[in-house]
Amino acid sequence: MNAKPEPAVLPLDVERIRADFPLLSRTVHGKPLIYFDNANTGQKPLSVIEAVDRHYRGHNANVARAVHQLGEEATSAYEGARDAIARFINASSRDEVILTSGTTQSINLVAYSYALPKLKAGDAIVTTVMEHHANIVPWQLVAERTGATVKAAPIDANGELILEEYFKLLTPEVKLACVTHVSNVLGTVNPVREIARECRKRGIPLLVDGSQAAPHRPIDVQALGCDFYAITGHKMLAPTGTGALWAKREHLMAMPPFFGGGEMIREVRFSGTVFADPPHRFEAGTPNIAGFAGVKAAIDYLGGIGFERINAYEQDLLAYATTALESVPGVRIFGRAKDKEPVISFLIEGAHANDMATLLDLQGVAVRSGHHCAHPLMQFFGVPATLRASLAFYNTKAEVDGFIEAIGRVRKLLL
Ligand code: PMP
Repeated sequence: MNAKPEPAVLPLDVERIRADFPLLSRTVHGKPLIYFDNANTGQKPLSVIEAVDRHYRGHNANVARAVHQLGEEATSAYEGARDAIARFINASSRDEVILTSGTTQSINLVAYSYALPKLKAGDAIVTTVMEHHANIVPWQLVAERTGATVKAAPIDANGELILEEYFKLLTPEVKLACVTHVSNVLGTVNPVREIARECRKRGIPLLVDGSQAAPHRPIDVQALGCDFYAITGHKMLAPTGTGALWAKREHLMAMPPFFGGGEMIREVRFSGTVFADPPHRFEAGTPNIAGFAGVKAAIDYLGGIGFERINAYEQDLLAYATTALESVPGVRIFGRAKDKEPVISFLIEGAHANDMATLLDLQGVAVRSGHHCAHPLMQFFGVPATLRASLAFYNTKAEVDGFIEAIGRVRKLLL
C-alpha cells in the first residue's frame, strides 16, 4: 500500500498566526476588520511590538557614542538589526548594509551619492513604466540637475515588463538601470536575475526596488546579481521609519556621503573632514534605534514561519481571491502576470475607486484606492485610479469571502 506523500513543508497555521497580531482582532465601524492594505503597510506581530517596548523600557540610549552599559545595549540592538538584514538578503558582508528610513531614503541615497556625481548631459537612467514614484522621481531630480534623461521601459497589457524593450534601452549612455522586483500595483514579479545579467554584459549597474518583494519571497542579492537593493521595514512586519540599502562594496567605497553630521566621520577639521567607512559614512545622526530592534524581531518572525510556507499560503490565497473577484459583475482586474505576488488591482464598472473604498471601509474592509504612487502606470492603463486589495500570510479565505460580500453590498448602493 502506498503511503500518502508528506507535503514538502507543513502548511501554515493561520489562526495561530493571527493570534500574534493584536490589531487583526479589532473592529472598524462596528464590523470585524478585514485588512487588505498590506502593500501599503503591514501589521505587526506582538514580538515586534514587544521588541520596541522592551527597547524603550530597558535599553534606551543613543548608539555608537556612549561607553556606558545602556549605550552598548542600544548599539548592539541597532547593529544586530544590520546583521539580521545582511543574513535576510544574503549580503556577503554586513558592511554592505546601510540602515535607512525605508526604500525612499535608500533610493535617494543612490540618486544623490552614486548617480549625481557621475551623470553628465546626454547620459541616461533607465527605469520602467510600472515603478513606484520612489523609483522615478529621484532619477528625474538628478537628471534635471545634470542634463541627463530618464527613460522608461514599457509593459504589456498583462502588466509584464517587455524585456526586449528594456534591454534595447540599455545603451552606452546609460549610467544606471532600475527596476522594481515586485510591482506595488500589479503584483508582477520581474525577472531580476535575467535583467541583472543583461546589465552586467553592458557594464551598467542595476538598482532593484525590493520594497514589495521582501515581505513575500526570500531575497538573495548575490544570486540576483544586482548592484543596489532597497527594502522597507514597515511592509515586512517591522516598524515604520526603517529600511535598508544594500550595495556592492566597490560602489559604497566610491560614494561620497549624502547627509553630513554626527556618526559618519572619522575626523572633522575646518581644513577638511575625513569620512567614516561604509556603512557608517551614510548614517549621519541618530537613527530609529527602537525601530531597528523591531526589524530584528520581524526578521526572526518571518524566519520562524519560512518563506516556503508563506509563499505557498499566499499563492493559494491569491488564486482564491482572484477567482472570487472575477465572479463580481463588471470587474476589471489590472495585472495578469504569470509570476505575481498577492496584490490585486481592480475596478468595478460604473463605480469610482474612492467611493468604493470609502463604502468598503464602512463594512470594515481596508483596501487602498487611488494612483498608488504610480501615475505612469495609471496613464498606461488609461485610468485615474484603481482599488487595490493586497494580501498577507495572516489573511484568510473567510476574509476574502467577507470582502466579496462587502463589494456586493457596495455595488447595490452605488449602481
Ligand atoms: N517602492 C515601492 C514598490 C513601494 O511600494 C513603496 C511603498 N509604497 C516604496 C517604494 C516606498 O517605500 P517607503 O515609503 O517605505 O520608503
